[in-house]
Amino acid sequence: MRRPDGRQPADLALVRRNNLALVLRHLRDAGPRSRATVAVETGLNRGTVSSLVSELIDRGLVREGDVQREGSVGRPGQTVELDGRTIGGIGVEINVDYVTAIVLDLSNTPVFEHRVALDVQALPPEAVLDAVTELSIMALAVCDKRDIMAVGMTLAIPALVEREDGVVAFAPNLHWTQVNAVDGLRHRLGRPGFAIRVENDANLAALGEFAMGCRAGTAHLVYLTGETGVGGGVMVDGQLLRGAEGFSGEIGHMPLNPGGDLCGCGRRGCWETMVGLAALLRMAATPDDPVRDPSLDLEQRLAVVRDRADEGEPRTLDALKLVGEALGLGASILLNVFNPRVLVLGGYFASLGGYLLAPMLAELRARVMAPEACEVVLSTLGFTAAARGGAHVALEAVLDDPTLAPLRHPTR
Ligand SMILES: [Zn+2]
Repeated sequence: MRRPDGRQPADLALVRRNNLALVLRHLRDAGPRSRATVAVETGLNRGTVSSLVSELIDRGLVREGDVQREGSVGRPGQTVELDGRTIGGIGVEINVDYVTAIVLDLSNTPVFEHRVALDVQALPPEAVLDAVTELSIMALAVCDKRDIMAVGMTLAIPALVEREDGVVAFAPNLHWTQVNAVDGLRHRLGRPGFAIRVENDANLAALGEFAMGCRAGTAHLVYLTGETGVGGGVMVDGQLLRGAEGFSGEIGHMPLNPGGDLCGCGRRGCWETMVGLAALLRMAATPDDPVRDPSLDLEQRLAVVRDRADEGEPRTLDALKLVGEALGLGASILLNVFNPRVLVLGGYFASLGGYLLAPMLAELRARVMAPEACEVVLSTLGFTAAARGGAHVALEAVLDDPTLAPLRHPTR
């Protein structure tokens, strides 16, 4: 049935939903402000904004904020701001040495975080998915207990990922090929309709840095993470660069030392074989040294390496200097190609950054055409960047469609 204005009710519902999304996203990105300011900035009329904000409040996504006097004249305005404490996104990261789960609410505040040391290479994918399921059930239980609606989950994996099919195509350091992680988890969790996605870990970490890192919002940002593998994510103009097949960012496999050491991918001389965690630990410690034991907690092992460096232990210092130089060598290519404003170092590069930065920066100054254009910073998100990025991506569903959040009170 058509209305006199020619629009069908379904069109109006869609317009309303899009406008709810516009206002919600604006409040998240621009911060607390009055309804009048939101109207001016979004181009919606004031009455519409008032009605939209009321509904967002009723859905628990927005709350009344402080009273602010805008400018020197005029009436003080009541601000509104992002709330979203009742909405949760789950990010789960599978890495070589651990599995992490994190739940963020809509304002990216963590409500749950848990990491388990796990020797993933030694286990079949089925057993790893069992461990991920166990962590996810813990995360979901916390959400249920705190009356938080979990809107979805994103799995972060150091792999080439076929996102649309939920398939991990190739994860060299996990020894996974063609594992349907999304189906595996959906089957185990038994929550039909629950949104589960899988994505490359460094891509998610780059999105996490862009959304909530120490240089959040920097439109041209390169993220580089050192773990067993070395991965990267490139933000250009505020968008993640994915490439034709979604496989871009495999910077750990740049062939920087042809004929060098064998890489997990089967090739020789990849950058990862020079700056990955295994390379550092091989140079810094003997095979029986506990810092090379993957069953022990990674951050504790890195703390031991840092203590040794602090004490001036020569083998550790030499290893860190060599890795720092090799880090600068590869990063110089990224800076010359992408001209980022910021290069964020994550994973163990951040933990040991105090020792890696000086040799790295010297290399960048020598090799980059415009080295002063880029600031190199250490991630403050630590090993949680990928899981946080995953939770953030899961939350996007509510920012796209705020009506996914249930009405907590009747709409006025
Ligand atoms: Zn490789």
